Formats: sequence, structure tokens, C-alpha cells
Amino acid sequence: MQIRHTLIMMAARKRVAIVGAGVAGLMSIKSCLEEDGLEPVCFERHDKLGGVWNYEPTLRPGQGSALYESVVTNNSKEILSFSDFPFPKEYPPFVSHRLVLRHIQNYAAHFNLEKHIRFNTNVIDVQRNNDGKYWKLQIKDKDDKLSTEEFDYVMICTSVYNKAIIPSYPGLENFSGTKIHANEYREASTFKGKKVIVVGGSMSAGEISSELARGGAEVYISMRHGVWIIPRMCQDGLPFDIALFRRTLFKSQSKLKEEIEKVCKTRMRDHQRFGLQSKEIYSIWKAFMISDDMQDRLAQGQIKPMVDIKEFQKNDVIFQDGTTLESVDAVIFATGYGFGVPIINDSWLYDESGKAEVYKYVFPVRLEHPERLALISICSPYGPHWPIGEIQARLASRVFAGNIALPDKAAMKREINQKRQYEKNKSCYVPGPPTVEEIAEMLGVKPSFWRLLLSDPKLAVAYEYGPMVPYWYRLQGPGAWPGARDRILNAVENSTICLKGYPSLEEK
Ligand SMILES: Cc1cc2nc3c(=O)[nH]c(=O)nc-3n(C[C@H](O)[C@H](O)[C@H](O)COP(=O)(O)OP(=O)(O)OC[C@H]3O[C@@H](n4cnc5c(N)ncnc54)[C@H](O)[C@@H]3O)c2cc1C
Repeated sequence: MQIRHTLIMMAARKRVAIVGAGVAGLMSIKSCLEEDGLEPVCFERHDKLGGVWNYEPTLRPGQGSALYESVVTNNSKEILSFSDFPFPKEYPPFVSHRLVLRHIQNYAAHFNLEKHIRFNTNVIDVQRNNDGKYWKLQIKDKDDKLSTEEFDYVMICTSVYNKAIIPSYPGLENFSGTKIHANEYREASTFKGKKVIVVGGSMSAGEISSELARGGAEVYISMRHGVWIIPRMCQDGLPFDIALFRRTLFKSQSKLKEEIEKVCKTRMRDHQRFGLQSKEIYSIWKAFMISDDMQDRLAQGQIKPMVDIKEFQKNDVIFQDGTTLESVDAVIFATGYGFGVPIINDSWLYDESGKAEVYKYVFPVRLEHPERLALISICSPYGPHWPIGEIQARLASRVFAGNIALPDKAAMKREINQKRQYEKNKSCYVPGPPTVEEIAEMLGVKPSFWRLLLSDPKLAVAYEYGPMVPYWYRLQGPGAWPGARDRILNAVENSTICLKGYPSLEEK
């Protein structure tokens, strides 16, 4: 009887192709395994799991973003965390890339995910079958052998950062110095004693220029517009996101903006004085860096802020305000990445005006059957990537398993348009923690303050005033995790506990 039941279950299983075994791919495998009737098959073109968190000295073919030697997370560990597999308490509040990779490997081992991954396998094309319900994947193995496989569902986990962007400048092609994108930068020692311009107002622009300055380069940072600097730790000794990612603050955009600016000003009261704001003060939503070092490097003249570049000459660089820097050795473009999914047809994602039409940043509504293909973590949140990728993976697998139905197309399109309007009016980035909450609500895992108040008042207070850690979405409903309550109530303490002499990793 049991064998018959197992055979029926196996026959009824739906195959899910997961492309990419970075964090998004791993969370997708796990989410599929948590649903009855889904069989995940993950394709990874590299020979390792963990995606971008594998530090390598050179870029691999087709790779977008990459790590440099000194990378430490921009988000604190309690905010970035997997929702049911927290970073160890003994990890520091902001985690080095080596420890991040170790944690991802532990996650894969703990949930036994690796056996679902086919390494050295590149998905080169995803096509619909005639009725639009099934998918044909064209796959290339490590010996360049091509094959085709059919799947019921597809999860695209190939990373949002797939194409490095270098803006065009007059004369750039004639510049004789080193020209690289930030994804090729690895260590400061390469640039010791050199005159280097870092272009960009992003996180990596800030981190790379500070590191180059410490490493003995003469550094200039060229920015088109003003930028706010958020320090990793606030004045009260808490990670900035533990202090700021609170439900009460997210209720009002203006209050949240005010509080973030307050945090920025604790280290640098007047950003204009440091040359980091143009005449008009730039909105925090448009440009911020997370950096602990920028203020000191600027104050010590080791980084000089410059306006946008006007043109390149053979050895020199001319800026929009007429300043010329002579004999420049290198330019590093920390100018971001292009959004795109090279293995699927662009018309599935973009409307005629080139805007992506993707419901909850997951389901491409332009498809005949949007409920059969999901983008996971293919968005650029203003908060941490992992929680949004994870909740998207949970939503997609529940939809695939038939446990949640998507709204009709008209309703999905209406929501996409409303969000666009909101984005335009508020001039703020989406998605972010509120998007995670919306999806949590669809999944039935978003706690209710009033229900908590009756059943567990301590948690209710934490819900309203405490940090928005991912464990909140494991308290109840499908995928509930018994450890969630404790991690929520201790999130603030755990975020910095190792600073008080918690046993170090080596001592364990
Ligand atoms: C320097 C740096 C610092 C960062 N710091 C933070 C931080 O503090 N907080 C944060 O939230 N995020 C941070 N990020 C963003 C980071 O990208 C995400 O945290 C995240 O881990 C992305 O995971 P992913 O799985 O979406 O993409 P990736 O990690 O890039 O994984 C994608 C995987 O897909 C594989 N793949 C791609 N195409 C194919 C194909 N066609 N066939 C088969 N396999 C394919 C790739 O080989 C790769 O393994 C940082 C990124 C960088 C570069």
C-alpha cells in the first residue's frame, strides 16, 4: 500500500528547473522541497555553490558582480539572515565574505540541498512549449555537449547583477591608463602609489576608494550627484539596520527618511562640507553608501571628491567643472549593473516602454502562464537581498504546488502600475522590507499585531517596535520554525553579542 502511494506520488511530481545555485537558487531548492509534489533540479554553471560569495581572483565567463578581497556585508547578520537558519552568534555584526560563504555552505549541508544541484551545467536557453505550459531548457555540460530537458516550472536564480555597466565618455577609448569595472577590482596593493579615479556613488565606490586610500593610492572619487554616507554602526552601538528597520518607522516614508539622515549625520554632520553633496541636497532614497571610513579618508585628504567626468584624454581626465587631473594611472568604474535575464526572451519581461512587468518582482505577467515561471532575487532592493529572495522562493513554490493562486492578470497589472506611480511620486526605491511583508501576507505567514497582543504581548511589542528580522515569517503558517520566537526576541542582543567576548570562532 505504502509503495503504491509512493509510486503515485512520484508519478504526480512536477519538475522544477532552478537556474543558479547562489543563495537564491539554494533557497529555491529548499522551498520546493518543503512543498508536496515538487521535484527541484538545480543547474549551476560553476563547480561550486554559493554564487557571488565565492571569492575568485578573476571573473568567470558571463559573471556580473564579484567580490574583492576585503568585502564585509553591508547589512548586519540578523537583518540579512536566512529566516530559519541564523548566522552563528559568534559571528560579528557585519560578516566577512569568507564567513558568509561558510554559512551558505552550512545552510546547504543542513538542509541537504547539494544533491539536487547539477554542477558545471550551463542553461543557455529557456523556451516555452507550444501551449505555453511547459518549459524546454537547453543545457550545455562542461564538455560543451548540448541537451534539452523539459520541466513543468522554472525558477530563474541567475542574479540581478548580470551585466557590468560602464557609461560612455568622450575619449575613453583613447585613455591609456588601466580601465576596469568594479567587478574586476580585487586588492588595493595593485594600485599602491598610483593615481586612481573611482567613478560612482554606490556602496562599492565608497568601499573601494577607502580601501585604495588606505593602501597608499592617490584617490579621487567622481560622482554625478550628492550621496549620503550611512555608517555600519549607529551612535548607540547598534548596526544601522537593526536600529532603522522597524515597522513603526516604515509606516511613514518621511519619518524613515528623517531617521536615516539622522544616522548619517552622526558621523558627518554636514555632507556638503565634505564635498559629498552638490548644491542641492540629494534625497537619501536616490544615493547612499554604507561606509565607515569615508569621512576619515576625506578629512585626511586621502580621497578627493570630484564632479562628473567630462572627457578622457590619453593620460589626463577633465571634469565637468573644468578641473584637469594629469597623468592618471587608472579609472575604476563602480557604475553598477544592468538588469536582465539573458536566458529568457526580453519580451516576456518588458512592456513596449521597456519597463519590467513582473508581479511581486517574481511572476512575469506578460507570459500566458505567469504562474509557471518565477524570477527569484532578480530585483535590486534597498534593504538586504536574502529575505526578499527567500520569501519570493517560498511564494513561487507554493504557487507551483497549487497551494496559492495568483490574482488574475488585470489585478496583477493594476498593482504593478500602482507601484510605478508610487515610486514616481515618492521617489524612493522599491522593493524593500514592505515588499517582503506583502508576500508574507500572501503566504499567510505575516503576524497580526492584534492577535499577538492577545496571545503573546511581549512579541506584539517586538513586532511593532523591534527590528524587522526575517524570523518573523517563520512564526506561524506553512514553514513555521520553532526557533523563530527566541531569535526575534534576542535579535538586538544577538546582533552584537560577539563584541562582548562571546567565544570566538577559533575557540569553538
Ligand atoms: C561586493 C558585494 C557585496 C554584497 N553585499 C551584500 C550585502 O551586504 N547584503 C546583501 O543582501 N547583498 C549583498 N550583495 C548582493 C549579493 O549579490 C546577494 O546577497 C546574493 O547573494 C545574490 O545571490 P543570487 O543567488 O541572486 O546571485 P549569485 O550569488 O550571483 O548566484 C547566481 C548563480 O547563478 C549561476 N548562473 C548564472 N547564470 C547561469 C546559467 N545560465 N546556467 C547555470 N547557472 C547560472 C551563477 O554561476 C551563480 O552561481 C553583495 C554583492 C557584492 C558583489
